[in-house]
Amino acid sequence: MTYDGKLLARARQAMEREKEQNEALRQRRLDEVYRRIPEIEQIDARMRGHMSDVVRLTLAGRADLAQQLEKLREENTGLQMRRAELLTEAGLPIDYTDEIVSCSICRDTGNVRGEVCECLRRRYNRELTHELSSLLREGDESFENFDLTLYPDTPDPVSGYVPREVMGAVYDGCRKFASNFPNVSANLLLRGGTGLGKTYLSACIARVIAGKGYSVCYDTAASALDAFERQKFSRSPEEGEAASLQVSRMLSCDLMILDDLGTEMVTAMSLSALYTLLNTRLTRGLRMIISTNCDDAELDRRYTPQILSRLRGEFLELPFFGKDIRLLRRENS
Ligand SMILES: [Zn+2]
Repeated sequence: MTYDGKLLARARQAMEREKEQNEALRQRRLDEVYRRIPEIEQIDARMRGHMSDVVRLTLAGRADLAQQLEKLREENTGLQMRRAELLTEAGLPIDYTDEIVSCSICRDTGNVRGEVCECLRRRYNRELTHELSSLLREGDESFENFDLTLYPDTPDPVSGYVPREVMGAVYDGCRKFASNFPNVSANLLLRGGTGLGKTYLSACIARVIAGKGYSVCYDTAASALDAFERQKFSRSPEEGEAASLQVSRMLSCDLMILDDLGTEMVTAMSLSALYTLLNTRLTRGLRMIISTNCDDAELDRRYTPQILSRLRGEFLELPFFGKDIRLLRRENS
């Protein structure tokens, strides 16, 4: 997994803030305990003194050093027991004033044996989700808010299908994909005209999956494929670096949503980028959602046989039917 340094730094900052809150809470508990049980404050002071006693004894090089140290250890154990007793009598748990850690695996350092800890990875994915804001701009995209009544319940004159029935099945497919993720057998190809809810349902899925702590990337085909080109031919080192970071994120995130395939300019470069994106993710077993307005003939015209065989062989197609929802909304409001 390649991490974006900027996002990882933000995740670490969030972790630091929580650490400070934990420490402040522990301090408040300690103040409370000292106020209610003054003997505990004395015990703590004596126990703090032990450390310097040990150092002093060791430096003095006395013949009975071992015995002296043993005596100190016994006293220390006695103090700890008395402390626990006092806390229990006051109706408090014995670890009430202990250090508070949010993650017991890394003890809030974010690292385990040189690797990023699970807790930091979860925070990182949350930061990544903030970057999804271009997709989740409306803020209300959720399966609960999806309105099937916006789709006609009379048969479409051309196809004979009832849009509301078809969309009910599409909705179920999207919902199942989100709730079963990452244990889903196919990628999704959302297909149909503009304004029929493809981006909306993509956002619903993204919200659920990102909420489970998985990394989700969203981009339009035009911008995503352009990043592959900018990574190779950039005007500045910064631009090249940003583009290659974007590419590596798109190749390695848990779910990649590629919106509006077919609106990008087709060039040898964009075809090779699309193939790389599809092939790398399929090889790695990472899921994708692609949406497109193109019909079969248009796909055939635009893409290479290698790309088409992957789109047709590895994706479950969900057809979007109905009237333009955005137009309907405008008419109704
Ligand atoms: Zn951790």
